[in-house]
Amino acid sequence: MESNQIAENIRSIRGRMAAAAERAGRDPGEILLVGASKMNDAAACRAAIAAGIDALGENRVQEMTEKLAQGAYEGAPLHFIGHLQRNKVRQVVGRVALIESVGSLELAKEIQRQAEKLGVTQDVLLEVNIGGEESKSGFLPKELRDGAAAVRELDRLRVLGLMAIPPVEREPHGNLPYFVEVSRLYVDISRSLYHNSFVYLSMGMSDDFEDAIAAGATMVRVGSAIFGRRHYQ
Ligand SMILES: *Cc1c(COP(=O)(O)O)cnc(C)c1O
Repeated sequence: MESNQIAENIRSIRGRMAAAAERAGRDPGEILLVGASKMNDAAACRAAIAAGIDALGENRVQEMTEKLAQGAYEGAPLHFIGHLQRNKVRQVVGRVALIESVGSLELAKEIQRQAEKLGVTQDVLLEVNIGGEESKSGFLPKELRDGAAAVRELDRLRVLGLMAIPPVEREPHGNLPYFVEVSRLYVDISRSLYHNSFVYLSMGMSDDFEDAIAAGATMVRVGSAIFGRRHYQ
């Protein structure tokens, strides 16, 4: 996609984000726009950064590593937002500002080991499998409290909030109840286990970010509405 089209899309999404925030009585300034740039090249990433995107998010380690080498993300924080296998943790810790997809204690422990080795602290979000889907990773809602309490003991991870990907929407606004439930968990876990220190509630994508904002998202991850449809082989 042309870089001026990417800039135009970002402007339009910012406008819709601000309107959704205002309808919910929220400050639009507290909601970050993360560009989900998978399958888009370094030029597209640079165009999004030039247009003022708050961060870029990648979900495949190999693609991220290649684009890092091309300087694709210079000028914006990089987030890892995809399923992270434990044997690839080494390629991610210390290279990204935020790992949004910590969905198990085993993964958190691997991140701890690698961060210790590097002498860094890694900012993370805990991923919640809010729809309880077999195919998705993340803590089940009923496991989240114990999981969050265990991760809290890992001193090389700084947990800044929650991330969730609800099931594919079957009807307009179908994900709103999931967003409301994640928001409730976010407030509860932040208050009861993290001294109200959570700042990022990452939920909402191209088709539903306005509903996510209505439910309290402080970070939305938008791909196709910025970069155009992805062409899978
Ligand atoms: C691709 C992706 C998105 C963005 O999806 P769109 O529907 O294209 O906006 C958001 N979050 C994650 C984890 C993704 O992999």
